[in-house]
This record gives sequence, structure tokens and C-alpha cells, in this order.
Amino acid sequence: MKPILQMDINNIMKNMRELVRKAKEQNITVTGITKGVCGNVDFARILVGAGVDYLADSRVENLMKIHSLSIEKMLLRSPKLSEVSEVVQYADYSLNSEFTVIEALSVAALSQGKIHQVILMIDIGDLREGIWFEETEKIYATVERILQLKGVYLAGIGTNVTCFGGVIPTEENYGFITTLADELRDYFNIDLPIVSGGNSSCLHMLYAGNIPQGINNIRINQAIFLGTEIAYGCEVEGWEPHTIRLQAEIIEIQEKPSLPLGEIAHMNAFGKPISPIDKGIRKRAILAIGRQDIDISGLAAIDQAITIEGASSDHLIVDVTNSKQQFSVGDMITFNLVTYASVLSGMASNYIEQVAYHEIL
Ligand SMILES: *Cc1c(COP(=O)(O)O)cnc(C)c1O
Repeated sequence: MKPILQMDINNIMKNMRELVRKAKEQNITVTGITKGVCGNVDFARILVGAGVDYLADSRVENLMKIHSLSIEKMLLRSPKLSEVSEVVQYADYSLNSEFTVIEALSVAALSQGKIHQVILMIDIGDLREGIWFEETEKIYATVERILQLKGVYLAGIGTNVTCFGGVIPTEENYGFITTLADELRDYFNIDLPIVSGGNSSCLHMLYAGNIPQGINNIRINQAIFLGTEIAYGCEVEGWEPHTIRLQAEIIEIQEKPSLPLGEIAHMNAFGKPISPIDKGIRKRAILAIGRQDIDISGLAAIDQAITIEGASSDHLIVDVTNSKQQFSVGDMITFNLVTYASVLSGMASNYIEQVAYHEIL
């Protein structure tokens, strides 16, 4: 059997509902994100059911998968120049920082008889996308040129932090874009309805109630999977920490010493030094899954007596000596996914079957 990734509908729904409730209290709209699960439509339906205001993904091919859901959609990553017509077709909004792209979006939108909505990204210090916040002239000149385009509507400004530079959102750096939004509204006499703040690193502020007034949208992805906010790595109160599980099949169970026998190479097949500990004879199971299937660093067996000893490209070795379960070849062992890297890689893997599941209570 293929390894199976199960998305726990109940827990995802619970986390998403909590997020929406907390954001609504503060008049903040929520963009639910499908990129972590490659645009999986079952997942997208859960987000819509939980009451998100928009769905978003960084890839157009994922937006195509959720096209049939009747909710406004955003492209999170700046469109490629080569894909502007697909972007206009599948996204109502896109996050942008290059005028050339926005101009091309305008042309594509006009040819499809549409107006595409643009959110202009401002970099407030994290050094990923956006016009650098201190380049006031460039920001104003870009806005001025966008306003002259017939096929796009400047729906707002936005910012993203933590993803690259690890910068944490604060009242001070967020304050910069809320002030900028007000100044742009005054100067150009425009509505600029959306001021889109952070990602999962702003949840500590959402829960502390100190997201600055002018920010009225947040875009949340990885926290939903892990139940933790990202700035300090704390669990979010009332959220479920486990939403995605992996099951893989046992192909060998044998008793073996825990120390390899023979002359030891300086590194294993993945460039990691080998440092085994002598624990005597152990009962070890090999599962038919490995590093080519998923980032194994985020697997945690639900049975806490089972430990992961390591993995090669297609074998995962676990120690089941202390488990109370009697395993046989052909049985499945279940793991929680506890890192975003494991969720991402597992959901994108062709070797794994991804399913939504609903625990019958
Ligand atoms: C991925 C992404 C998000 C969500 O980030 P998380 O930290 O995973 O919640 C928000 N905005 C943009 C632009 C993104 O690319």
C-alpha cells in the first residue's frame, strides 16, 4: 500500500474556525491558504466552511484546482510575466511588486474583459518581496502608474515578514504600512480598501489584540497545520497541534544490535556523520517510506514508545522494542507531522496518497 497522508478535517476545521472568530472580533478578514497542501480541494472546502473571506495560493496551478469554489481567490506570489493571462483567469487578486508585471496583468485583464485586483507589496525589513519601505518616491511613482492602468484596480497594499529574514511583526513595523496606506489614500484620493498584514507570525499579536488598527487582512497557512504561531513557536490556545498524519507499511521486523558492525564510513548516504548509541539488541521495523517520499525530520510516531532511528531514500527505520503493540510485517505505523517542511513535502509527494479523513466520534 502507498503511504497515506490523512488530513484531519475536524482539527483543521477547529483551528480555522478559531482563527476566523478571533480575526472577526478585530474586524480583520482572513485569507485561507492552500499552498501547504498543493491546492487540495477537500482542504479548501474546509477553509470555506470555516468562514474565511478569501482563498489563496502561491501557484496558479493550485488555484486552478480550486477554481470551482465560489469565493474570491488571491495569488500570493508575484505572477510570472509568462503566466499573466492564467493569473487573470484564476485569481481575483494578486500580490505584486513589479510594475512590468502589473502592466502585463492590466493588458491580460482587458483582453478577458476583466479588471484584476492588485495588492502592492511593501518590504518592511524581511527582505523577501515588496518595494523597500524607505523608497518613498518609488512607492508613490508606482502607485501613480498603476492608477493609470485600465485593466487593474489597486485594491490595497500588503507586507510579508518572517518567511525569509525571520523579522517579527511589531506595532512599529506594521505601523509603517498602516501609515503608508493612510498617506496614499489622502494623496491620491483613493479607497485602498485592503491593508494585508502578516502570515502565521502575527498570531501572537492577533491573540494579544495589538495588531494596529489599519491592518484589515491576514494570510494564514502553516499555523493551521501545526497549531503554533511562528514568531515565538508557542502553541495557540485552543488550537489542535496535530492535523495531518502519515501511515506507512512495515516491510521488515527483525531483532538487531543498535551498533553497526564493521568499519564505519565518515558519513552516511546523506552526508550526515554516523553516531549510533549502543542500546544492545533492539526490535527494529523498516517502513516502506524514505527521504524521497517526505522530509522525515517532522515525523513523530503517535505511539510515543516508538522512536525513529533514521532513514535512507526509501527505508525508514524505527525502534519498536518498547511499544506495547505487537507489530507484524504488513501492519501500518502512524505518525503525526510536526513540521511545516514535512507537511509541504508529504503533500507534494507522488509516492504518497493524500486523503481527507473525518474521525467518527
Ligand atoms: C506563504 C505565504 C503566507 C502564509 O505564510 P505562513 O507563515 O505559512 O502562514 C502569507 N503570505 C504570503 C505572501 C505567502 O507567500
